[in-house]
Amino acid sequence: MNEKNFKNGLVQDWLPYIAVIVVSMMLALILMNYDAFERLFFFTRTHESWELDELLIAGFSALVALLAMMIIRVRREIERRQHEEIRLHNLLRHDPLTGLPNRLYLEEELQRRTGADRNLKKRFAVVILHLDDMEQIVDLNGHRAGDEVLQTMAIRWRRAMGSSDLVARLPGNEFALVVADDDDRGRLSQVTDHILDLVRNPIRFDSFTAKLTVRLGVAIYPAHATGRDKLLQQASIAAHQSRADSGSAVTLYDPQLDAVQRRQARLKADISVALNDGQFIPLFQPLVCLGNGRLAGFEVLARWKHPELGLLTPREFISLAEETGQIGDIFWDLLRQTSEATLGWPDAVPIAMNISPVQLFNEQFAPTLLTMLHAEAFDPNRLIIEITENALLGDMIAARDTMMALKGHGIRFSLDDFGTGYSSLQFLNQLPFDTIKIDKSFVTSFQQHNGNFQIVSSIIQLCRSLGLKTTAEGVETLEEATELQNLGCTYGQGYLFSKPIYPAQAGRIVEQSIRQSAQTPSQSSAPTVSSMLPIMRTK
Ligand code: C2E
Ligand code: CA
Ligand code: CA
Repeated sequence: MNEKNFKNGLVQDWLPYIAVIVVSMMLALILMNYDAFERLFFFTRTHESWELDELLIAGFSALVALLAMMIIRVRREIERRQHEEIRLHNLLRHDPLTGLPNRLYLEEELQRRTGADRNLKKRFAVVILHLDDMEQIVDLNGHRAGDEVLQTMAIRWRRAMGSSDLVARLPGNEFALVVADDDDRGRLSQVTDHILDLVRNPIRFDSFTAKLTVRLGVAIYPAHATGRDKLLQQASIAAHQSRADSGSAVTLYDPQLDAVQRRQARLKADISVALNDGQFIPLFQPLVCLGNGRLAGFEVLARWKHPELGLLTPREFISLAEETGQIGDIFWDLLRQTSEATLGWPDAVPIAMNISPVQLFNEQFAPTLLTMLHAEAFDPNRLIIEITENALLGDMIAARDTMMALKGHGIRFSLDDFGTGYSSLQFLNQLPFDTIKIDKSFVTSFQQHNGNFQIVSSIIQLCRSLGLKTTAEGVETLEEATELQNLGCTYGQGYLFSKPIYPAQAGRIVEQSIRQSAQTPSQSSAPTVSSMLPIMRTK
């Protein structure tokens, strides 16, 4: 196509010259017809003194020189245009920032590999890589930093790929790989493992260190699809299905993923009805004071009682409600139900509720919350708001303003999932948190993993020195609880004590807890957490 255009352009430009040549050839034919040469020869012989023969030779030489110059010009012009054409072709097929092939290049390459050429019909994989943390890096360190991270990643990945593979940059923070996989020796998994290693290796710059996580979605030709667009679509579905919160992960396309997408679309459409019908309900998970084994409050965890799909967990619907802008409505609904369920509970039983980043950045959130608490007769001193680390990266100033406004009324804050986010320590200094919740990924079997043990113990140490309380999430064994108690962790939460339970069951635990306090009003020596267990295990 391009070659054809190129030739058409040349023909048009050189048309006058071609016309001149044709006209001169016709002229030559006419002259020959009238024996012009013989007549000229006779004329020069009869007028010897005019030196016409020398003049003619000079004129002829000049004509040859002119012709030669024209040929050189034409050739130069052809070369220049070819060069320009190649440059443009490359510009259109490469990402200017990383120098990697872009989507157009990738599509052409896939077209070639899936096309009619039999020799190329070999097995290969299309891998979509989604970098999760780029927005945060740009927010915190600026666009230049984001660009540098992308450039460094591009260099690393390009080096990791073989000559028959391809790395391409897609719009946003996505990349695509085409990986030859026809030798049945597990080359694909070697390549994806290598890519994950390269991502896990932090990128150090003068002023910051970038730690990234990536989601990889894989579709295989011809097993999953034989068409270019379908392969790209399937790899993309698989990448988005890879859980962002499970760190870097690889997901192979599964035809059932289409069903997952359909389910998500259905859930999104069902949220409004669910809100109207009161299908969102709060479950309560107890928090235990590790020092004396007593009840230290509850965390409210949302559930969706879907009439056809059963009880859905927040992982299925929170992000969908964020996308549709209905997360706020769900929160107010849960807060109202929580207020009703906990009315009359002692002030010493705080209630923790999770909020999404969008809520925190909404200026109306703080005033609306205060009005609502007042209307529901919910003492703000009983409320703890849990915010995940990554939620704070968007707009630290706005987050701080909202927090300070609420803090003035006695509301407390917990930093949720501590240690899993992009950056950690600076929040401890800059934002008014009361408690840090150590993410369950560190707590689960932390005694067996030296790395996790170091992390858990140093978080506890650090928080103690900053005057902050700590909650260990996901405590599942007595050994873990005891070790956490020894390390000085303030609270524990997890299946060891109780799974999330219905408000009525939580109410019974509160009553038992009140009775227990009455029996042992002052505890001189702190009992071990095991003394709490019989209460907690009451379901
Ligand atoms: P989270 O705030 O970290 O909540 C703790 C999650 O860990 C809960 O999952 C809880 O059921 C689970 N968990 C508690 N103890 C253990 C344990 O010992 N072992 C294990 N393996 N898991 C344990 P759940 O209820 O599925 O909630 C998931 C996440 O959804 C929550 O994580 C929270 O971030 C979010 N979420 C829950 N409710 C709401 C809500 O009302 N609003 C918003 N924005 N997010 C919510
Ligand atoms: Ca939480
Ligand atoms: Ca958490």
